[in-house]
Amino acid sequence: MIEIEDLVYSYWRGEENQDQPPAIDHLSLRVEKGEFLAVLGHNGSGKSTLAKCINGLFQPTSGRILVDGMDTREEETIWDIRSRAGLVFQNPDNQIVATTVEEDVAFGPENLGLAREVLRKRVDWALDVVKMGEFKRRAPYLLSGGQKQRVAIAGVLAMEPDYIILDEPTAMLDPNGRRDVMEAILKMNREENKTIILITHFMSEAIQADRVAVMDRGRLLLEGPPREVFLHVDTMKEIGLDVPAVTELTRDLIQAGLPLDPSILTREEFVDQLCHYLASDK
Ligand code: ADP
Ligand code: MG
Repeated sequence: MIEIEDLVYSYWRGEENQDQPPAIDHLSLRVEKGEFLAVLGHNGSGKSTLAKCINGLFQPTSGRILVDGMDTREEETIWDIRSRAGLVFQNPDNQIVATTVEEDVAFGPENLGLAREVLRKRVDWALDVVKMGEFKRRAPYLLSGGQKQRVAIAGVLAMEPDYIILDEPTAMLDPNGRRDVMEAILKMNREENKTIILITHFMSEAIQADRVAVMDRGRLLLEGPPREVFLHVDTMKEIGLDVPAVTELTRDLIQAGLPLDPSILTREEFVDQLCHYLASDK
């Protein structure tokens, strides 16, 4: 479990900077093992800072973060925390270091001093999860953006972290790349039992999570299952975020007098409800 307790993180130090607002402002949040949490928030709301605090890259200004009970402020446990909570960034080009796909995925776990056989198994398994096994001898620069990002994800997965934090991993990808990366994320969560924290600005991705946390100016504004969070259409719009188009349309139809369920997330649900309503309308 990840426990974030009253976290404050400020990039500014010293008295002359006292008026600068902190990037994370008294944020508390818990992430259970096995959960898939999506984090939303407009640019500058503190999402990347939060990700870096969770895996101990940044130390809290105040408050604390516990990863499986270990405090990120403790020097003795920081390596343990980093190996339990792996971080994937937005730009796959900045994360790929080796000249073949399999060497790249092996790069992290190699440093753990694993036996050759164990290392090979891990690399094959990780590439298999992200469906990149057939490309293992390929040079990374020959891959598409989505394929590169899946290799970067495999590199983190091969370290066998329990928690995988992905910071807008699909932001630089085309729709096909986005779909394949999302598929890999869902598979890691559902089949490999990894806890996922996905920072994204795509509603289509957020609705697939178990829970959504919405950040605004370093604070946690809304939090709950996607169906509940996206009911707050006006709050979301106020902070410059969208809700799924069908959710907003449903809200408008309800205001116009149609007896629909407001917590609609997908087109299929929308069409079902509308058909149901039309069929019952005499
Ligand atoms: P997000 O990922 O949601 O876009 P960030 O965590 O990157 O937000 O940024 C949160 C706040 O911290 C913003 O106001 C941003 O300008 C500020 N910030 C981010 N990185 C730095 C930095 N290296 N130095 C100073 N301020 C920073
Ligand atoms: Mg960011």
